[in-house]
Amino acid sequence: MDLLTYCKRLPKIELHAHLTGSLSDETVLKLLNSKLKCVHVNLPKSAEVTIRRGHRRTLEECFQIFGILHYLIDNLETVKNITRDVIQEFASDNVKYLELRTTPKSVPNKMTKKDYIETVLEAILQEMKTNCITVRLLLSIDRSRGIDDAWNTLQLAKEYKTHIPNEAETLAVLRTGLVDRIGHGTFIHPSSGGSQELLYYVQHYHLPLELCLSSNVKCGTVKNIEDHHLAHWRKENHPVIICTDDKGVFSTSLSEEFHLCAEVGQ
Ligand SMILES: [Zn+2]
Repeated sequence: MDLLTYCKRLPKIELHAHLTGSLSDETVLKLLNSKLKCVHVNLPKSAEVTIRRGHRRTLEECFQIFGILHYLIDNLETVKNITRDVIQEFASDNVKYLELRTTPKSVPNKMTKKDYIETVLEAILQEMKTNCITVRLLLSIDRSRGIDDAWNTLQLAKEYKTHIPNEAETLAVLRTGLVDRIGHGTFIHPSSGGSQELLYYVQHYHLPLELCLSSNVKCGTVKNIEDHHLAHWRKENHPVIICTDDKGVFSTSLSEEFHLCAEVGQ
């Protein structure tokens, strides 16, 4: 069996996946085509070309995709469909536990943040019934939207916290002491812009790190795969989780990220 097939067959967990950035090219093209049928279309002419470039996209084009996605995802029907597509894709990559993160969005006269969250939750519940996957939702804050927006999202998160279906499970997680994790962890080590103190803290408390290799390389936060800080954490026997970040935008899958790690001998 070749390595990639082996990685695909492994049951996996994904802890760092942004809903919007995880949209596959097929889903984005589907949204784009239905949008183009509408009268008021305000998309760059190159949108379809950029989407079709897949893994050959430059960093600049990756950021263009985020802009296009923001424009396309402006109603509840779309929110429901994209959530369902993303979950199905992770399930078919043999991901058994998925934590999806998203920043609740509101569009005047179309949806409130609360509608957005409820729609995503509804889609999650639907897909958990038909796929062999457990999905949890993390509400994220977009720092660029300012403090009021962040506060509002926090209030909503508190509200929905009481809707977590299994209290015992939540308690069990809290009791492990692993109530916190670090996304990326790119700037912890002193050699990559962090500090000795920060490094000590993360190591002392065994804070698990969500590492997203393709995303880091594509965004230039690490020079290349060989120089990725994963090597350091593995040597220290530190808990790490391999994640995709934005599997759609960076044209990857969790199996491919596992494969990448195995290939560079980590
Ligand atoms: Zn991320």
